[in-house]
Amino acid sequence: MRKRILITGGAGFLGSHLCDRFIKEDFHVIAMDNLITGDLRNIEHLFKLPNFEFYHHDVSKFIHVPGDLDYILHFASPASPIDYLKIPIQTLKVGSLGIHNCLGLARVKGARVLIASTSEIYGDPLVHPQNEDYWGNVNPIGPRGVYDEAKRFQEAMTMAYHTYHGLETRIVRIFNTYGPRMRLNDGRALPAFIGQALRGEDLTVFGDGSQTRSFCYVDDLVDGIYRLLLSDYAQPVNIGNPIEITIKDFAEEIIKLTGTSQKVIYRPLPKDDPKQRKPDITRAKEILGWEPKVERAEGLKKTYEYFKSLPESELFREPHGREFN
Ligand code: UDP
Repeated sequence: MRKRILITGGAGFLGSHLCDRFIKEDFHVIAMDNLITGDLRNIEHLFKLPNFEFYHHDVSKFIHVPGDLDYILHFASPASPIDYLKIPIQTLKVGSLGIHNCLGLARVKGARVLIASTSEIYGDPLVHPQNEDYWGNVNPIGPRGVYDEAKRFQEAMTMAYHTYHGLETRIVRIFNTYGPRMRLNDGRALPAFIGQALRGEDLTVFGDGSQTRSFCYVDDLVDGIYRLLLSDYAQPVNIGNPIEITIKDFAEEIIKLTGTSQKVIYRPLPKDDPKQRKPDITRAKEILGWEPKVERAEGLKKTYEYFKSLPESELFREPHGREFN
């Protein structure tokens, strides 16, 4: 019998790559998405498969899934600073009401739940690199608060179901991840820079560009999540690439990669933009035998190929094409 897995946010960037991976592992995959930030084009190649189903549904509302479920992955959430500003309430609801629905469903089905948490729970971190024992430095009422606090609540709720109800749960803390199917104009650094290069615009670096990030290629991330789901480890695990780069150097890499004749220009740093971020992945190495394999040059090349293959109209499309509910 095929294992059955529900993936919320299944039409999103990470969700769709997870759908692909679990289909490859011969699971029956049920993707759920309200398509606010997800896009059916990310999963349209799966619709013809008998072991794939799609539910157009908002996970913040009551969820009903007929039949057995072995696993639930909660990946539904807006996930870029532009989204948090435009849809703050939905961001809070999907992290709080959404996970509550998933955990309730998991109890009924006897399923194991894995939640997508984030390096954002560490806020603007005061320790570097960040390991899982760090509690974070988060501004609850700042522009990122709606995301950060929803994810922190989500971890707390998941742990409560684990300790109180004995539910099997897993928590992955995801650091910056990139790859094909990112949304071109969602305001994140990588699609912003590649989009600007493709449109022949200068690359906008925020602040002086000395802030750091560590970028993980999506295939590596998915592999870490797969291993964590099948492990017996209920504490949070960082998954990310520990190779750190300043945003200014990153923009320069994109200029080289794309061969654009444009230059870097500087714009004000958004409020509460973390100054540095790099995962300590000791736990993932020890417990999951996982570490990233894809070099940034290779991952960026694949991502650039994807963005180049999109119709030109995509380059000028607003990040959100529809009204929010
Ligand atoms: N950034 C930038 N120019 C842009 C978009 C983002 O310099 O056009 C910066 C942003 O301020 C942050 C870094 O790039 O310091 C990474 O931003 P992203 O939104 O990708 O991820 P996050 O800040 O959530 O880690």
